[in-house]
Amino acid sequence: MFESLSERLGGVFDRLTKQGALSEADVDTALREVRVALLEADVSLPVARDFVKAVKGKATGQSVTRSVTPGQQVVKIVHDELVRMLAGDGPADALKIDNPPAAVLMVGLQGSGKTTTTAKLAKRLKEKNGKRVLLASLDTNRPAAMEQLAILAGQIGVDSLPIVKGESAVQIAKRAKTQAAMGGYDVLFLDTAGRLHIDEVLMDEVQSVRDIAQPRETLLVVDGLTGQDAVNVATEFEAKVGITGVVLTRMDGDGRGGAALSMRAVTGKPIRFVGLGEKMDALETFEPERVAGRILGMGDIVALVEKARETFEAEQAERMAKRFAKGLFNMNDLRGQLEQMLKMGGMQGLMGMLPGMGKMAKAAEEAGFDDRMLRRQIALINSMTKKERANPDLLQASRKKRIAQGAGLEVQELNRLLKQHKQMADMMKKMGKGGMMKQAVKAMM
Ligand code: GDP
Repeated sequence: MFESLSERLGGVFDRLTKQGALSEADVDTALREVRVALLEADVSLPVARDFVKAVKGKATGQSVTRSVTPGQQVVKIVHDELVRMLAGDGPADALKIDNPPAAVLMVGLQGSGKTTTTAKLAKRLKEKNGKRVLLASLDTNRPAAMEQLAILAGQIGVDSLPIVKGESAVQIAKRAKTQAAMGGYDVLFLDTAGRLHIDEVLMDEVQSVRDIAQPRETLLVVDGLTGQDAVNVATEFEAKVGITGVVLTRMDGDGRGGAALSMRAVTGKPIRFVGLGEKMDALETFEPERVAGRILGMGDIVALVEKARETFEAEQAERMAKRFAKGLFNMNDLRGQLEQMLKMGGMQGLMGMLPGMGKMAKAAEEAGFDDRMLRRQIALINSMTKKERANPDLLQASRKKRIAQGAGLEVQELNRLLKQHKQMADMMKKMGKGGMMKQAVKAMM
């Protein structure tokens, strides 16, 4: 989901992270690109403009935190603003379905995934909330659509209103209401007819159905791939029928995703669910944090920045980066690294935040590479003399024994630490030659 937007923003921030300090010109450059990226991701123009304005106000007003790179700081601000805009007034995934039978009106254009979403929601309410659900199709123009809903109902094991030929949408809605009340159903889904485009007749019909059904929820189903069109559709439905929420479908595709942002900003209505495929359980509640994270596509870099801000000393990090780039890595450097790991929540905490590192964190834990080990290693280094720390090659048998004793540990453990240090130092040297180290360390800051 949201690949193209994330790639573009990723590129912008890559360029930024290579620069030193966050100037107003930097912010302007970055935000111009953010705006273009949003537009290309099909976020509507006014929404993109507002978004960039909000971010600019926040970015330039803020003093640069020394311990993170400017790029990361902008990422964080953009992320927070995305979340703020996507979330609106807080959690809204739970449907209002008390006072049974509660009618839920499903509206949207033909082909948006309305019928599929109706069945997905019904399945969810049945399985997660133990509700008795009745489905009714009001699509009198397309008998196939009515049959499709009945078939899906059969598949997920909920009831559907028997099809009676020749009835109008309003007549079906009335019959469905009676049936829902008499049959002791908790929720009645009314799947209205879609059209290829918005037209008067369609809107009039949906309005009449709405007046009869008195729905607790009116959910607009929109194809998440349609971008700008989706926004127009939402504006129309909100004005003519009034909606209580939006379901974005086809968010599993390589869509441009901007629809989510626009939809929220333009209608002011919450996005309740996203459709992630054709299967009946491919429906998830909409989570702004996660969606914003995916838009940025940078793992949990935001959390990393927040932690780094608390713990990193900029000068120290900068100094280390320079040393590493030269392939220099002695025991003092290793101790600095180990201490930082501890401060940042240990190995697990640190690796868990980096993209794709979750598995490694687990492996490290299983191998006994935990905080206690970090502390023991630091104790060993503390037990060395200044000279020994600067030049670990000095360590012969007698020195080793003294150091281990000083830390209250076995020589074996010191040997392990030395081996680990040697491996790391070798790696640093290799990476230092290719200039890779500088980048890696920068990325970590
Ligand atoms: P309706 O005309 O609005 O009722 O649309 P349908 O429910 O018949 O859906 C049209 C097509 O889109 C069907 O082939 C669905 O399987 C497919 N579809 C619906 N929702 C999703 C989704 O979230 N992801 C994907 N990939 N396909 C979907």
